[in-house]
Amino acid sequence: MPAETASETVSVTGWGRTAPTVARVIRPRTYPEAVAAVRDCGARGGIPRGLGRAYGDAAQNAGGTVIDVTALDRIHVVDADAGVVLCDAGVSLHRLMEVLLPLGWFVPVTPGTRYVTVGGAIAADVHGKNHHVSGSFARHVSSFELLTADGTVRTVRPDSPLFDATAGGMGLTGVVLTATVRLQPVETSLMSVDTERAADLDDLMARLTDGDHRYRYSVAWIDLLARGAATGRAVLTRGDHAPLDALPPRARRAPLSFSPSRLPAPPAFLPDGLLTRTGVGLFNEFWYRRAPRARSGELQRLSAFFHPLDGVPHWNRVYGRGGFVQYQFVVGHGREEALRRIVGRVSARRCPSFLAVLKRFGEADPGWLSFPRPGWTLALDVPAGLPGLAAFLDELDEEVAAAGGRVYLAKDSRLRPDLLAAMYPRLDDFRALRAELDPRGVFVSDLARRLNLQEPA
Ligand SMILES: Cc1cc2nc3c(=O)[nH]c(=O)nc-3n(C[C@H](O)[C@H](O)[C@H](O)COP(=O)(O)OP(=O)(O)OC[C@H]3O[C@@H](n4cnc5c(N)ncnc54)[C@H](O)[C@@H]3O)c2cc1C
Repeated sequence: MPAETASETVSVTGWGRTAPTVARVIRPRTYPEAVAAVRDCGARGGIPRGLGRAYGDAAQNAGGTVIDVTALDRIHVVDADAGVVLCDAGVSLHRLMEVLLPLGWFVPVTPGTRYVTVGGAIAADVHGKNHHVSGSFARHVSSFELLTADGTVRTVRPDSPLFDATAGGMGLTGVVLTATVRLQPVETSLMSVDTERAADLDDLMARLTDGDHRYRYSVAWIDLLARGAATGRAVLTRGDHAPLDALPPRARRAPLSFSPSRLPAPPAFLPDGLLTRTGVGLFNEFWYRRAPRARSGELQRLSAFFHPLDGVPHWNRVYGRGGFVQYQFVVGHGREEALRRIVGRVSARRCPSFLAVLKRFGEADPGWLSFPRPGWTLALDVPAGLPGLAAFLDELDEEVAAAGGRVYLAKDSRLRPDLLAAMYPRLDDFRALRAELDPRGVFVSDLARRLNLQEPA
């Protein structure tokens, strides 16, 4: 490894801050430095890391190496006619928006934060509010370069086993170095948004089922502390990129401007127990009541619609030192009863969750460990210190697995390995490809060890 490549031994966690482990973090600035970093991983192997927005332990590697890819951050080519970008994997979606929006292009899929890298978006095959229309991120990737365990760089295209193992493969097939991504054309950087309230879970599911096809983007915030007849009450927001003629004359002067505002970061840690049931219950009540019963065509800034939390740097500190667990699962269409039961159980248990969202997924993409499949996905956050949480979530996992569903590995920090094969039927293909591609197990993470992702069955 070149002497000048920066490296330090530090504690590493995911965004939920639940399971810190110590690793040597190395930050290559060039492709040869990345090759050297892989060759020099050491006995405990290495794992690529982007901006650390995976909630759990996917981008950490206790006692081993973490390859921080964020210094590989060049945008190489923007084809503004065809709507295609070729960039390094360490480029963030935020940076892409800054560069591409003024040219009339938007990323094809964005998760609830734009502070993720292109490499992280491929490795988790992330989904956004447009999954029912556009699928997940890798569907829009026409090729990427992958640095594999033997130190070679391969060009990988769709419809190949290596593409399907890497899309959703959580960094375990190698380091994505560059990617070519197809973009979404937009006339403005504003969103035209319809908002409506749903009185309970059945009302919500009916509205999503009946209306989603009319919108490119759709998601519902759901009040998981509401009980009784109000269980599952929600606020739906759906919309599309606003066309130029929807803007008032003043806004038409700079229709593609992108300058999201940011608030000051909260203190290093807020006191534990700040997010009490009462506090979150009051917040949820306020949030539900302040939403209009029905409003259409509201113009919203893109950052407010897609990434409201990005306005508060380090917002994950509000959960105190213990951190928090994000739990996200999907169950298929026809499994609404399982969804109802789980929502009922979470409500009955009074989990103080204020960031819960429900969405309908569309067609699945071919990634072997890619999370989305057609059906209902619910994501909720819970303070990690909640008494009895581990056993409670284990029970939910069993319910999800029994309904043929799965939990999302990019959010996970606690799933039991014995449920994984039922949730991800292509797991053995993934393990077999890894065994061939990386026989020494160079690429490994805390997630991979915990869930035994690397061993052939
Ligand atoms: C507020 C918030 C909202 C979110 N909303 C959504 C959402 O709506 N939909 C969704 O799908 N996800 C969502 N996520 C999760 C997030 O999109 C994913 O975890 C994403 O992978 C994070 O990207 P990252 O660059 O931070 O990667 P990291 O968190 O650093 O790493 C995630 C995984 O990607 C791998 N990886 C990173 N870079 C590379 C590379 N160059 N080559 C190979 N593997 C690599 C890592 O090994 C790891 O397995 C959200 C996260 C947050 C914090």
